[in-house]
Amino acid sequence: MKDVIKAFRKIVHLTFPPESSNRPVVCNLTRLFDLTFNILKAHITPRQEGAMIIEIVGSEENYRKGIAYLKEQGVNTSSVAQRISRDDEACIECGLCTALCPTGALAVEPAARRVCFESERCTACGMCTRVCPVGAMKVMLNNDW
Ligand code: SF4
Ligand code: SF4
Repeated sequence: MKDVIKAFRKIVHLTFPPESSNRPVVCNLTRLFDLTFNILKAHITPRQEGAMIIEIVGSEENYRKGIAYLKEQGVNTSSVAQRISRDDEACIECGLCTALCPTGALAVEPAARRVCFESERCTACGMCTRVCPVGAMKVMLNNDW
């Protein structure tokens, strides 16, 4: 049987200063580092700063090089997983969020009958924050989103 090599993938939040908005820095991830990317969300603020959430796929080494390149170009990068959190004390395990979470980051674990949260799968869509009855889910993005 053929070995299946799992690609490294990460969901990343990027913010661009106005001066970099005309440069193809994100496209260069493919050209220079053999990474593929999928834009999940994009936004321009009133101050002409760009913000984007993208999923980057490739080798882990190339991912690190690509992120270093973005930083060199003045792009601020952070993992989306660092921007989403759940207050486990507040969560009442109602399961409402699991019906709406598009990525399966929030899912019921049948054996433990618990709602599990896997932050690395989160795209910061914010759906869970709108339905959670106790405000347990927090997405820390700019108010502009
Ligand atoms: S913000 Fe909430 S609903 Fe959206 S992907 Fe993340 S965990 Fe799922
Ligand atoms: S909606 Fe809120 S309280 Fe209900 S399982 Fe999800 S995080 Fe917990």
